[in-house]
Amino acid sequence: MATSSRKKDPSTKPALPFSCSYCDFAVDYHYKGRKPPFAKNILMLEDCYVMKDPFSTSGGFISVGGMCSLCARNVCMANTCSLFYTQRFCLNCVADRLEEFPQEIQQEVSQRLKERG
Ligand SMILES: [Zn+2]
Ligand SMILES: [Zn+2]
Repeated sequence: MATSSRKKDPSTKPALPFSCSYCDFAVDYHYKGRKPPFAKNILMLEDCYVMKDPFSTSGGFISVGGMCSLCARNVCMANTCSLFYTQRFCLNCVADRLEEFPQEIQQEVSQRLKERG
């Protein structure tokens, strides 16, 4: 019986754990930044935590989260955890500085905070 030695792909870094600071979402990610090396010609609008799409053979990826630009906490992309408005913000930071955001964002966030309860 041959022991299968796993081929190591040098371009594949081991996955690292990502977990959201606000909900219990947790997943392994492969890359953090704006230009995932396994996704060609992609430039994100923000530094993201990116995992390779396990169902894609053509360099697909899923951005699983980001970092709040104010408090630097890891946040997932769920509506109830973070918001992207020129940068990523966690909802808590937006709630703290609500008056600094445009009215439509204020309404959006108050709605989301209600949903979160
Ligand atoms: Zn979350
Ligand atoms: Zn924050």
